[in-house]
Amino acid sequence: MAQDLITPYITYQDFTRKIRGSAHMIVSFPNMGPNWVAFKTFFEKNGCEVIVPEPTNRNTIKFGVRHSPEFVCFPFKATIGDFKNALDKGADTLVMAVDCGPCRFGFYASVQERILKDLGYNNFRLIPLEQGDLLTFDWVKTLFKTSPFTDHKRYTSAVKATIFFLKKAKLTEDIQTAEGIFRAYEEVQGDTTRIVNDLLHKLDETNTLNGLRNFRTVIKDMFNAMDLDRTRDPLRVGLSGEIHISLEPYVNLDVRKKFGELGCEVHQSLSLYDWIMHKLHLNYHRKWFEHLAKPHLPMDIGGECQWVIGEYIDKANAGFDGFVHSYPFTCMPEVTARTIITNKLKKMYDLPVLYFSFDDQSGVEGMRTRIEAFIDLIEGRRKKYSDKEAQKEYGNHFCLECIKLVQAK
Ligand code: SF4
Repeated sequence: MAQDLITPYITYQDFTRKIRGSAHMIVSFPNMGPNWVAFKTFFEKNGCEVIVPEPTNRNTIKFGVRHSPEFVCFPFKATIGDFKNALDKGADTLVMAVDCGPCRFGFYASVQERILKDLGYNNFRLIPLEQGDLLTFDWVKTLFKTSPFTDHKRYTSAVKATIFFLKKAKLTEDIQTAEGIFRAYEEVQGDTTRIVNDLLHKLDETNTLNGLRNFRTVIKDMFNAMDLDRTRDPLRVGLSGEIHISLEPYVNLDVRKKFGELGCEVHQSLSLYDWIMHKLHLNYHRKWFEHLAKPHLPMDIGGECQWVIGEYIDKANAGFDGFVHSYPFTCMPEVTARTIITNKLKKMYDLPVLYFSFDDQSGVEGMRTRIEAFIDLIEGRRKKYSDKEAQKEYGNHFCLECIKLVQAK
């Protein structure tokens, strides 16, 4: 009798599944900077409940470092920590991008699932999101697997999810582009960061196509309303590197912000949208980088290696003042890019370059000293060799619009 009164132990996931039906899932995904907005809409429009992972933090990294193979790359450790946080908050379905290599990324999902299960997290599924070639449309299977619908609705919700995802990913890229330009002119330090955060939350809350269509104007208006010193002639720095490290500010110690606050215009073409377009074979900008890199590296060897090389050459040709290459410690493809730039391209193109290799031991102060020294160097170089003719207009249409806005008044 007394036994009947004891409530059997039930996890939060099992409880929600019971009351909402077995098809209901609570989905989460790893962090990649501001791109949570696009991923959230992707699964919400597909009909799922979503848990946005809490921002990557010290405990996330601690967990990842403690439970990952010692020499695995840093993004593996950071993302497994994000998964652990999401599971603790009640997620029962994790989605992780997978590829067929060519580097260690190919085995992230299966090893992470195994580690989490060995640690006692048994009530979850890790669903791979196939991203090797998006034109095979294997990624649609992930949408169907996470969809609560079994009838025609799963097709309409998958189309809706894809449209909103692409639009929000593009607008997130635009926010990143504007951030890189406007921060170099801000009068009050911190204004740009505040506007970026406001815009991301506004974008998250905008759920109509009309609202998204007008969102670029909102981005421009908000940045342009800041107090700006429009007389500045900032140094132009290109930022490139491995995708997770480049986009997640906690793991790259917010390198973009640091350069901006020291008065540099930061041009970073790498974004989630840029990657998706590449995987849909529609990214002609990346094809240009591949063309430039071809004499030095004829094939994709993983990471962003080939494109980092192409981008270094492209930015040197456009008269940039400096180039920053960020990558995770032990990342084989990016170390290859670094070697090619140092031993060959630096001598040919003479664009100063600063490398950052990030892991859990990276510290802010050492990084700041290196950035300040680098800026002194490129400032001196500009004074000595300043050739206005060589400084070509650079950036996509939206980037050029932002530059015109800054110079307008
Ligand atoms: S690109 Fe580098 S960091 Fe990313 S999975 Fe491959 S080896 Fe690891």
